[in-house]
Amino acid sequence: MRHPEELLSAYADGELPEDKRREVEEHLKIYKHCRRELEKLKNWRALSVMQNASEILVYKV
Ligand SMILES: [Zn+2]
Repeated sequence: MRHPEELLSAYADGELPEDKRREVEEHLKIYKHCRRELEKLKNWRALSVMQNASEILVYKV
């Protein structure tokens, strides 16, 4: 199975349509590393609330 990593960002933002969201959720149940990716994305979003955009760039891969 391919990893929908490009969807995780939109998932974290709640921007995915229902079918894609379910696809990602099923994937996250199975693949721990993608759950970790999602946690990282959520952490970045939490940081973006507290810090300005130029600082956020430092945290991106
Ligand atoms: Zn995956």
